[in-house]
Amino acid sequence: MMKILLTGGAGFIGSATVRYIIGHCQASVVNVDKLTYAGNLNSLSAVADNPRYHFEQVDICNRSELERVFIQHQPDLVMHLAAESHVDRSIDGPAAFIETNIVGTYTLLEVARSYWNGLDPQRKAAFLFHHISTDEVFGDLDGTDDLFTETTPYAPSSPYSASKASSDHLVRAWHRTYGLPVIITNCSNNYGPYHFPEKLIPLIILNALAGKPLPVYGKGNQIRDWLFVEDHARALYKVVTEGKVGETYNIGGHNEKQNIEVVQTLCALLEELAPDKPAGVARYQDLITYVADRPGHDLRYAIDAGKIEQELGWKPQESFESGLRKTVQWFLANKSWWQAVLDGSYAMQRLGQG
Ligand code: NAD
Repeated sequence: MMKILLTGGAGFIGSATVRYIIGHCQASVVNVDKLTYAGNLNSLSAVADNPRYHFEQVDICNRSELERVFIQHQPDLVMHLAAESHVDRSIDGPAAFIETNIVGTYTLLEVARSYWNGLDPQRKAAFLFHHISTDEVFGDLDGTDDLFTETTPYAPSSPYSASKASSDHLVRAWHRTYGLPVIITNCSNNYGPYHFPEKLIPLIILNALAGKPLPVYGKGNQIRDWLFVEDHARALYKVVTEGKVGETYNIGGHNEKQNIEVVQTLCALLEELAPDKPAGVARYQDLITYVADRPGHDLRYAIDAGKIEQELGWKPQESFESGLRKTVQWFLANKSWWQAVLDGSYAMQRLGQG
């Protein structure tokens, strides 16, 4: 059975990928996660007792601990999702982004390379290092109808996207210079269940339910291309099982929406699915509040996912409307998950008390 070492498995996309692999595929997963504020083991309760799932609380910057994990678990391949991922936090404090996204990726590459070099020829030939990245490395498409392709030049705008761009370059260099078998995927904005409520969609849902203002940056005209997280998880597994070494694949949902459209759609869904509004709130959309724009904010991202669709036969299954409805329904049905995030009690896991 294929053994996958997956980093960042307690995060939003990582946990969806772990749930997908354990639930649908014949593979085992070793989840290597530091459990920062974004790591939440409650997102993995469905797989926690499965004998094909193992958890290692390890920082990817810690070389000796990573070496121990590789030797102990003998993975066949690596899926690298661990990262600092929130753009606003990268503006307020870039250091953690440089440390985890650049130094952490470098450390993981070095440990993986030395492990890969020591494998027997058959396992060495089958090994893969899959680096999961973002479309934000390509910068801003403002004023054009262009789409990001796999050959679009990098032009990152924020400390977050610059740190992810750096990590992509390191991964390509480790392939070209040392021959490490790598694949990179660059994906658009994800949304769905278990999304940490600092990101736009869960923030809007939870603020609306609490009768709090719904903050929208600038005029709300920023365009993002949205993908349901479970479609991303399926794409990632497809890439590690069928993708070609040395290649890059863009992953996206063909769902370009302005932020304000997303917020208004959420308000309409909440009117339907949660009609009992907090005291003093006549309509959820009355809570929309425009706030000062984020510095350096890119106006438009949009992905051309033609390559992964044609070469690997992947397509998103969820439309934006159905995915958003599922997401709102999930948040309404899983109050204990987000309540533990909002009151901070989920963080007790980090101290081994969860
Ligand atoms: P997330 O912030 O929800 O989760 C990140 C996970 O990494 C957390 O569990 C955290 O504890 C862990 N982590 C952070 N630093 C670590 C370290 N030093 N060592 C070990 N673990 C560490 O992020 P996400 O939204 O799930 O994103 C996962 C990956 O996908 C990231 O690489 C991100 O750049 C990329 N990505 C995200 C999106 C998106 O819309 N969220 C889109 C495209 C690509």
